Amino acid sequence: MIGPDAVDLLITGGSVVDGSGAPAHPGTVSCLDGRLHLADPGWRPAQSARVIDATDMVVAPGFIDLHSHGGLVILADPRHEPKVRQGVTTEVVGVDGNGYAPFVRRDDLMAFVELNAGLDGRPDISYDWSSVASYIGRYDAGQAVNLAVMVGNSALRIGAIGWEDEPAVEGTLADMRAMLREALEEGAFGISSGLDYPPGSFASTDELASLTKEAARAGAFYHTHVRYGLGDRFLDPFREAIEIGRRGEGAVHLTHFYHRETHPGGPELLLGLVDEARAAGMDVTFDSYPSEWASTRLLIQLPQWMQAGGPAALRDRLADPAARRKVREELAARGAAYTAASGWADLRLGAFHRPENLGWESRTLAEVMRETGRDATDVICDLLLAEDLGVAQVTSGPWSETLPHFVRHPVGMVGTDSTFLGEKPSPRTYGSFPRILGQFVRDEQLLSLEEAVRKMTSAPAARLGLRSRGTLADGKAADLVVFDPSRVRSNATYEEPRRYPDGIEYVVVNGTLVIDGGEHTGALPGRALRRGRD
Ligand SMILES: [Zn+2]
Repeated sequence: MIGPDAVDLLITGGSVVDGSGAPAHPGTVSCLDGRLHLADPGWRPAQSARVIDATDMVVAPGFIDLHSHGGLVILADPRHEPKVRQGVTTEVVGVDGNGYAPFVRRDDLMAFVELNAGLDGRPDISYDWSSVASYIGRYDAGQAVNLAVMVGNSALRIGAIGWEDEPAVEGTLADMRAMLREALEEGAFGISSGLDYPPGSFASTDELASLTKEAARAGAFYHTHVRYGLGDRFLDPFREAIEIGRRGEGAVHLTHFYHRETHPGGPELLLGLVDEARAAGMDVTFDSYPSEWASTRLLIQLPQWMQAGGPAALRDRLADPAARRKVREELAARGAAYTAASGWADLRLGAFHRPENLGWESRTLAEVMRETGRDATDVICDLLLAEDLGVAQVTSGPWSETLPHFVRHPVGMVGTDSTFLGEKPSPRTYGSFPRILGQFVRDEQLLSLEEAVRKMTSAPAARLGLRSRGTLADGKAADLVVFDPSRVRSNATYEEPRRYPDGIEYVVVNGTLVIDGGEHTGALPGRALRRGRD
């Protein structure tokens, strides 16, 4: 067989699972100048700078994570161990409407970082970008994985309308569409929304449909954390998302799509919405994370009117007794959001920095209430004020009984929703991909290995419009994972969420080994990916 005479990396003896869903087959995979070459098992080049014997192991394309909160923390800690040790070679950031570009005014960028500190952190880096092009360029300096950036609709709203809860009008909508068009030309992969997170959550269905239409004209898609509080709080939020795609004539991707034990109906009702829309000709896909633990910023517990006007206005209201009274009434009526029936006892706090609060790390809100003799409203408001808004929460999330329906569904992919803050983040941050390969594929045989790998590689690449990655084929970018299918497993649990998985032996990013024999090499070959060019 014809091939290069000399290669940088030669992987022999492995079972090749190429990401397309095709059956595994023996083969030789090599990398030269960051590109792949596939060959028969017996093929050998004259020279190989490095040879890996992958006997009894699987060689697959690197995994693509459709939902990560690593966008800022990776600039401070580019080794990104929790993710690359899972086999992730590309992750999507700028999700939940919370992207960090474009921001014309630096004050707005810094205010936005503060507002979202309980979710994405507030690392000590120079926030020195404004356009999407300049922001994306920061990832060309190198980190463990490649980054694909979404434009958050919050950034567009802040730029065109401001921080208040005001409807878009013709002029401001045109401004948002122009900013989005430019961002997509500069390499962003689509538009994201997070309809629990102001100010993006102040957008109407029509406004989001209009942005989706703009994205669709460029061949890009709408990635959404839906408006969970809408209507029946079960199916209606997803109906709105699909309606946005229908009116906007564009593709819709439902992120962290899952079923809770407390939902009034079964998972087939949720998945039925996707199947129904697809049967009607729409392009609707989703991702899920395989973990029972959800996580976001504590701020999500407060009504959205508190957050209108941005973080300075929010801090004023947190300290204002009249505002607290109003919050107290609303919380009494509504209870804790995104928790199990046990409410505040199901909400674990984290990511504290102030010495006086460190004792609350990983404790429940109910415990803090009991030990301080204050109610939920005062505890939440006081902690947010003391911590400059940067408090995280972990609550129960997907129901383990119904999670397999989502993992197995043909248009389901993986979005880890990885968060990196606090002593005990959700175990999804360290264990998502290995848990699927170990538990759902090997132990429970819920889906084939080839199908699972397809859902982790070529399917998300197709969703993103990423042509250079997602399958093992000649000339593709050399993003690879080599794992032991008999040993791969997640070790991350609620009690010990920061444990690395077993069985992920080698991870190659752009032709360079980042994980070698299960250990991080320190190499930082990842870079920014750009829509239309990668
Ligand atoms: Zn998220």
